[in-house]
Amino acid sequence: MSHVFPRHSKSQPPVAVGGEGVWLIDAEGKRYLDGSGGAAVSCLGHGDPEITQAIKDQLDKLAFAHTGFLTSEPAEALADLLIDHAPGDLDRVYFVSGGSEATEAAIKLARQYWVEKGELQRSRLIARKQSYHGNTIGALSAGGNEWRRQQFGPLLLDMSHIAPCYDYRDRAEAESPEEYGLRAANALKDEIERLGPETVMAFMAEPVVGATAGALPPVPGYFRRIREICDEYGILLILDEVMCGMGRTGTLFACEQDGVEPDILCIAKGLGAGYQPIGAMLCTSAIYDTIAKGSGFFQHGHTYIGHPVATAAGLAVVRAILDRGLLPQVRQKGEALQQKLEARFGQHAHVGDIRGRGLFRGIELVQDRATKAPFDPALGIAGKIKKAAFAEGLICYPMSGTIDGRQGDHVLLAPPFIISEAEMDQLVERLGRAIDAVLP
Ligand code: PMP
Repeated sequence: MSHVFPRHSKSQPPVAVGGEGVWLIDAEGKRYLDGSGGAAVSCLGHGDPEITQAIKDQLDKLAFAHTGFLTSEPAEALADLLIDHAPGDLDRVYFVSGGSEATEAAIKLARQYWVEKGELQRSRLIARKQSYHGNTIGALSAGGNEWRRQQFGPLLLDMSHIAPCYDYRDRAEAESPEEYGLRAANALKDEIERLGPETVMAFMAEPVVGATAGALPPVPGYFRRIREICDEYGILLILDEVMCGMGRTGTLFACEQDGVEPDILCIAKGLGAGYQPIGAMLCTSAIYDTIAKGSGFFQHGHTYIGHPVATAAGLAVVRAILDRGLLPQVRQKGEALQQKLEARFGQHAHVGDIRGRGLFRGIELVQDRATKAPFDPALGIAGKIKKAAFAEGLICYPMSGTIDGRQGDHVLLAPPFIISEAEMDQLVERLGRAIDAVLP
């Protein structure tokens, strides 16, 4: 019997023993096409010799030095590389071990910024429904996924959640995408006014929503209006690119495509590409300097921040994304994948929407295409598709949930950037068989 705390107590998963490119291999020799890179993690695929070599080299030099005393060469080099490519005024990097640590740090940094400025009343965070920012208490409080929150309600912090930007469901027929984007963004203004602008510290959002909404991109202009509103009230904009960042959407940072510059930006997943656990929080010099001139240090920290081996892996990964020309490939392959999905599912009676950016794609499943009515969550459609796909040798990321009683089910795809045309065909074919098995 396995003593590893499994994800689902009722079943033991197969044991993974190897990985090659977009494929994972279990102890029985069965091969799985990693169509979601785990959870949008394995952007370079499995078994990349350059990344493993960089990790081995670093281990031979230095495995660990506590950042309370020392910094390290890979941490400095990775911070420089990220800052060179980051949008706007982001110019400091705080390395952590994953996504929840990054968003949790962002929430605390925002609060400390206002404390240092003497605006102690600013403690409210506004985020969005149908979002996910991580599983620790602060991050879970910021997230708007009811299913993940439901058992922990009494422990969660009081944060506000406005409606997401959800073109497929919320744009009125008479509205242009731009008009809808303005209306959706103005919900932030209304919420700031409702709470009292002097009490709000920050707004947090995923540029392209991942786990809770199936690669849901914003409409043009939405985030520019969000930025304007944040500026108008002087509140901080925190973008969570834990899932959609690091080239996943075809630009190193997803927000580049929305012409918006955050005050704080969180990344993880693709930063380590699965080779090491690593995340990061980037912030502007305005925030950093306020704290540096105030109490002098960010009142936060974990034992493994800036870990030399993790940052060496991150450095090799970001260099690979940039130097191997993967960003234009993600854009081109993403368009091809969208077309393949449309060809296979465009007329499917239970596929309501096919969307996304780059190699970050989602399919929204509905009971009825005309009314967009979702399936009853009790049917657990997404879970059944995950199982059927796994039996087909496909790893994809289906999710179901209920938000205001309506969200329903979707399948998220986030294959490694190195996926070939033939492998994309296999992905779509296997997913098609799985969906047909569950929804004939
Ligand atoms: N933010 C977003 C947008 C995520 O998708 C996730 C993970 N799915 C997290 C935060 C949390 O990251 P982690 O699981 O590494 O803690």
